[in-house]
Amino acid sequence: MKYIGAHVSAAGGVENAPLNAHKIGATAFALFTKNQRQWSAKPLTEESIAAFKANCRKHHFKAEQILPHDSYLINLGHPEKGALQKSRNAFFDEMQRCEQLGLDRLNFHPGSHLNKTDEITCLKTIAESINLALDKTKGVTTVIENTAGQGTNLGNRFEHIRTIIDHVDDKNRVGVCIDTCHAFTAGYELNTLDGYSETWKQFDEIIGFEYLKGMHLNDTKKELGSRVDRHESLGKGFIGNELFEWIMNDPHLDGMPLILETPNDALWPDEIKILKGYSKDSR
Ligand SMILES: [Zn+2]
Ligand SMILES: [Zn+2]
Repeated sequence: MKYIGAHVSAAGGVENAPLNAHKIGATAFALFTKNQRQWSAKPLTEESIAAFKANCRKHHFKAEQILPHDSYLINLGHPEKGALQKSRNAFFDEMQRCEQLGLDRLNFHPGSHLNKTDEITCLKTIAESINLALDKTKGVTTVIENTAGQGTNLGNRFEHIRTIIDHVDDKNRVGVCIDTCHAFTAGYELNTLDGYSETWKQFDEIIGFEYLKGMHLNDTKKELGSRVDRHESLGKGFIGNELFEWIMNDPHLDGMPLILETPNDALWPDEIKILKGYSKDSR
């Protein structure tokens, strides 16, 4: 079973996200549980939490179909002590929000070394940040997203993600989300069937399919290996449509949220319909 959706708006309250997802014909969704461009946010109210859960039940969204994303400000590998602490506090708050909402996973970008430390130190700092958050929360898996490797962002190589996982104490609460735009611009050749097979072979050897907890389905405005992160609507960029047909027929990708982060939200209902049409099970 494939769960397909988009990163929908939670404007006006988190309880609106499942409604917005239902409106576009989604069977999965992503959301920010607070304003993603601000450090602090008011706690979720009891009413908002109850309404979120009720709306999810009403529209048949279970935790395994929902992939919340943390704030873009957070850098869990920050090389400076004060800034690292600020990120760790904000991440803990995000984990708690997921816990309150009954969500079982939180998607985040690993972090950046900012040219002030080496890669391995940064990766170990990220793992320690994850350990600290896991120590203080229950039931929420931290889901590391692969990146395009833009600037000093780590996570563009599967090996980076492996190193982080190696240093996480509770391996049952760490997972991975693969973003197709990020993988392609990081140099993984997802636009050919050979490249697709080879990418997943490497993923399984280096990380392991048991860690895969979701995907972001995006085409890209930038070329293979460009290490620039610019999402494009499906089939309109350098990757093209075939990848999404392979994904929709790949049993490794069953039972997890497959989330569009494509730039034109007016196209989401059609993109979801097209994806469902690719799947041989739903024909
Ligand atoms: Zn992301
Ligand atoms: Zn993404």
